[in-house]
Amino acid sequence: MYLYNSLSHKKELFTPNDPNMVKMYTCGPTVYHFAHIGNLRTYIMEDVLEKTLRYMGYNVKRVMNITDVGHLASDADTGEDKMVKGAKRENKSVMEIAQFYTDAFFADCEKLNIKKPDVIEPATNCIDEYIHMVETLLKNGKAYLAGGNVYFDTATLEKYYVFNDHDEEDLAVGVRDGVEEDANKRNKNDFVLWFTKSKFEDQALKWDSPWGVGYPGWHIECSCISMKHLGGDLDIHAGGIDNAFPHHTNEIAQSESYLGHKWCNYWFHVHHLNTDTGKMSKSKGEFLTVSLLEKKGYDPMAYRLFCLQSHYRRNLVFSWENLDNAVVAYDKLIAKIAALKDGDAVDEQALESLKQRFAGALNGDLNTSLAVTAMYDVLKAKTTDATKLAALADFDRVLSLNLLEAAKKLQAKQAEEAAASADPEIDAMIAARAAAKKEKNFAEADRIRDALNAMGVEIIDTPQGTKWRRV
Ligand code: AMP
Ligand code: ZN
Repeated sequence: MYLYNSLSHKKELFTPNDPNMVKMYTCGPTVYHFAHIGNLRTYIMEDVLEKTLRYMGYNVKRVMNITDVGHLASDADTGEDKMVKGAKRENKSVMEIAQFYTDAFFADCEKLNIKKPDVIEPATNCIDEYIHMVETLLKNGKAYLAGGNVYFDTATLEKYYVFNDHDEEDLAVGVRDGVEEDANKRNKNDFVLWFTKSKFEDQALKWDSPWGVGYPGWHIECSCISMKHLGGDLDIHAGGIDNAFPHHTNEIAQSESYLGHKWCNYWFHVHHLNTDTGKMSKSKGEFLTVSLLEKKGYDPMAYRLFCLQSHYRRNLVFSWENLDNAVVAYDKLIAKIAALKDGDAVDEQALESLKQRFAGALNGDLNTSLAVTAMYDVLKAKTTDATKLAALADFDRVLSLNLLEAAKKLQAKQAEEAAASADPEIDAMIAARAAAKKEKNFAEADRIRDALNAMGVEIIDTPQGTKWRRV
């Protein structure tokens, strides 16, 4: 399988360290508010990546953190903690906020058929691991104490900006407009590993440490949680593109300085969901959630299809019109699947060739829009319905669009509607008309049709027989 690696800026043949087990880490949500559908685009595409790896025959161990402490509201190390902000907003404790929004996040994931990772670890569970890593970095001369905080010393690195070739000045947090530079830092890119002092002294959760009572920086949680469950040789680290800098850049800096060797081979970044006014974000006030989509009558599966229709390395623009188009596409798709008849034989050769086309799309840097096209091609293929149903069931292991379940539901609904509108008198008249036509008694057939019309019943002759509806 070829995957684009943000580290090399190239598509690379994916080769895990251990051929039997792919170790995958994904940055989880900061649980101070609901996830917006932009966040969920990232989780949908990561879900597709994990399921594709499994589809290709790999075992996968996937780990995700839950940021319930220490995610700063600005990129500056001294910004206010998002969790504390959320707790204040809702007049609850930080842990209550964390629990509520963690549950809400996984409820949204379930609606979108996003599989739960094998390991889910809240950041507050791993304080000992953070302290151990910070102690080691201090011992190795990679970190320093200043003003009560522990900082990572980026001057010890050969290369800091591993992902991008941007102008360093643009990226440096300390020189951004409106961000006050932290005077304790030796270099502008240095970042906090452990806080005991920050501009905001009302931090709710604090722990004892060798440097005083305090709390961890945001980046350290992902390095430590990943190593706790996956060891020091990670295959894939995934997240939204906004996390490449500074979050992932800092994760690499501290992890490799701690380990003394390369940490993660492949970096998978999902690009943003934007609105017509720019990036979707929680800080912009009202934002779109799965519940809001449902309230407006949208099936979450239509949103999943909307995401799958475009490549993960392209920005995707959300508009209601675009979502409406996805709804129409999804409904048509399910109606076509519902019209397939099970029962005939599966043509194994035809099935194999359909599967190959699908796998080929995913193998090319997770080209989900091509994979969706391969799904439509199944419906057009010259093969038995049973073969088509088998192919669709197989593809849905990755696409997770409830293809067969939704089609069965539609069939049941159609059968129910047919039963509800059944009328033995009309059926008998239609049968008598068919018999008259067969005997070439067209005058009688026309008379029956006129009689039905007079009863307010329109009849429609189709290749599958005569249908009727009340007008
Ligand atoms: P957060 O809860 O803010 O830590 O973000 C959770 C995930 O969503 C991270 O991987 C972010 O990079 C990602 N993300 C944030 N905004 C967007 C967006 N507009 N579109 C896609 N992914 C996003
Ligand atoms: Zn992370």
